[in-house]
Amino acid sequence: MPTPRRLTCQTCRSEEPHEPLTPKERDWLQGQLGNRVPDNYYKCVNNRPDGKVCLNLRTHSAEKHFRLTKRLPDALE
Ligand SMILES: [Zn+2]
Repeated sequence: MPTPRRLTCQTCRSEEPHEPLTPKERDWLQGQLGNRVPDNYYKCVNNRPDGKVCLNLRTHSAEKHFRLTKRLPDALE
């Protein structure tokens, strides 16, 4: 299983702590992308100045995995 690690974040423009997606987050992303999501996706868990968590998505190997940046919703049902 993937483990939390420090990776660069396209939105924060710095190296920040990242965590693998939860099953619920993977389901959400799968719905967005329309295909199966492998377990190499990470979310940035840096706390932004506005009090929210960044939640920008990337893969382990590619900081700019998406053509446009993509972030998880703040609260997943
Ligand atoms: Zn970030």
